[in-house]
Amino acid sequence: MTVGTTTFPADGVIISAATTGSWPTKAQNPHVPTTPEEIAACAVACGEVGAAIIHVHMRDEQERVTCDPVRYARTRELVEAAGSAVIMNMSTGGGAGTSTDDERMGPVALAPEIASFDCGSVNFGERVFINSPQFLNELAIRMNANGVLPEIECFEPGHVWNALRLIDEGLLKPPFWFQFVLGVRGGSPPTVKQLQHMIEMLPPGAHWSVCGIGRAQLPLGMAALAMGGHVRTGLEDNIWYRKGELASNPQLVARIARLAEELGRPVATPAQTRSLLGLGTK
Ligand code: ZN
Repeated sequence: MTVGTTTFPADGVIISAATTGSWPTKAQNPHVPTTPEEIAACAVACGEVGAAIIHVHMRDEQERVTCDPVRYARTRELVEAAGSAVIMNMSTGGGAGTSTDDERMGPVALAPEIASFDCGSVNFGERVFINSPQFLNELAIRMNANGVLPEIECFEPGHVWNALRLIDEGLLKPPFWFQFVLGVRGGSPPTVKQLQHMIEMLPPGAHWSVCGIGRAQLPLGMAALAMGGHVRTGLEDNIWYRKGELASNPQLVARIARLAEELGRPVATPAQTRSLLGLGTK
């Protein structure tokens, strides 16, 4: 049976947990991890219930976004020391308009297995998230030099088009790992039609995942499960489990894992994810 872009039985679904992000605070949801110790413990807990990738942002003592490589390194050490195999995806997003380009590229020097690559500029709520052509070129060069797989984050179809140009120029190399971030105020609306459109723009063989913002998180995750894609969930994008009930990160991951099992899609392990995305081979 063919549904969307995949033929069933499908490959495993890669679940990414975006646990912290740059905006939610403990005042909004006490389950948001903000210290390296909390973020690492949360990564381990999410890995135990089905996440293969942990997408991390760092915060300072006041919960403000920081790109401090020392905190990133500390978090990775703690995860590894706990014996978890989850793959770390370090954010290079900074505070969506509040960090310098140089600060944002800091974590790349740590050679994480994956780092985010925000593939174009976009209005982001009340802010402007600038990813200039010069920044993207430099970020791609540094990721290539450090053997980092870019998670190509696309907030609207123009960002996919930017990626195609960077692929043509040889700055982005296969395998391609796309993350569609839908529902940011200023980007694409979080609809299946938009998702399908962006999938149709992808180069052959590209892997894709989707995260919907806010109340779109669950329905778009379910759409991705049905369409053969991968899913990102977590408090970075949505702090609610259901209307009126705050979520925790492991709770959100466990729900996607349950839905995947119901659909007959096995949840990909970190080892299977490394194999699919060619990690550790660069
Ligand atoms: Zn992020």
